[in-house]
Amino acid sequence: YRQELKQLKDLPGETRDRARRVELSANIGTPKDVKGALENGAEGVGLYRTEFLYMDRENLPSEEEQFKAYKEVAESMAPRPIIIRTLDIGGDKKLPYLEMPDELNPFLGWRAIRMCLDRPHILKTQLRAILRASHYGNLKIMYPMVSRAEEIRKANAILEEARQELRAEGIPFDENLEVGIMVEIPSAAVIADILAKEVDFFSIGTNDLIQYTLAVDRMNEHISILYEPLHPAVLRLIKNVIDASHKAGKWTGMCGEMAGDVTAAPILLGMGLDEFSMSASSIPQVKKIIRALSYDEAKQIAEKALSLERPEEIREMVEGVIQKLK
Ligand code: PEP
Ligand code: MG
Repeated sequence: YRQELKQLKDLPGETRDRARRVELSANIGTPKDVKGALENGAEGVGLYRTEFLYMDRENLPSEEEQFKAYKEVAESMAPRPIIIRTLDIGGDKKLPYLEMPDELNPFLGWRAIRMCLDRPHILKTQLRAILRASHYGNLKIMYPMVSRAEEIRKANAILEEARQELRAEGIPFDENLEVGIMVEIPSAAVIADILAKEVDFFSIGTNDLIQYTLAVDRMNEHISILYEPLHPAVLRLIKNVIDASHKAGKWTGMCGEMAGDVTAAPILLGMGLDEFSMSASSIPQVKKIIRALSYDEAKQIAEKALSLERPEEIREMVEGVIQKLK
């Protein structure tokens, strides 16, 4: 079985009938993770979580420090695309050198893009570092925890300042770098048609999207049975996001755990998801499922899943199909 998955490494993530090809990418946390991504055949990095650069230290990482890390990833993955997510701190993750409020509900609180827009110098330093590194590979920027269009515009205004500064300083960067957002708050998923006008791409963060849609803490073991990726509400939101992006001529990826879930894969493929980004070790198993299906079969599975009322029925239906493929 291991051998079989190894052989898959250099094959594309395309359907049996070659009617549909998707991008299979890896999530990484540090430049060291690139090795595992490449070993598992990742075609890119769909989520580079930059929090680790900011954690376990006494001060903010400098532009130079960040530039080095981003450049290292850009060069070692080139020419593959890398989506760098801007700082997603807050929630459960605190920084000792940054004064954070005590909050009753930190996961509904001052975190991610909200904090960055209140502390624009932190965001601008990071954006300058990413822009500078974009000269050395194929980088894209992604803002986390967006709930309304205004946040994208404000973040893009800071990005524009960073661009102008670098131009004035004569520092090269990729002028065509794509900018997208994570869709991980239900409001963003519902108004995906509005947000699509402001971005180049979406990446669905199912870890948080499921938690917020179902009001189920993703870390709370007492209610983990309620944490259900195949809940019809979650599937409808995902469908809405993909459709809205395609209507606007944009693309949608997924970087939450659900992207690496073999049961979800046929549904997501059939809904038209363009990119699946996951723990590197999950890539071979998802690729295997995608390559075993025709695009029409996947579309039928997605349609069927959207018509069923209970997660259990959906799971049973997809598992039945997967069983027959083996
Ligand atoms: C998500 O919310 O799905 C996600 C990928 O981000 P994180 O797990 O870092 O919150
Ligand atoms: Mg998240």
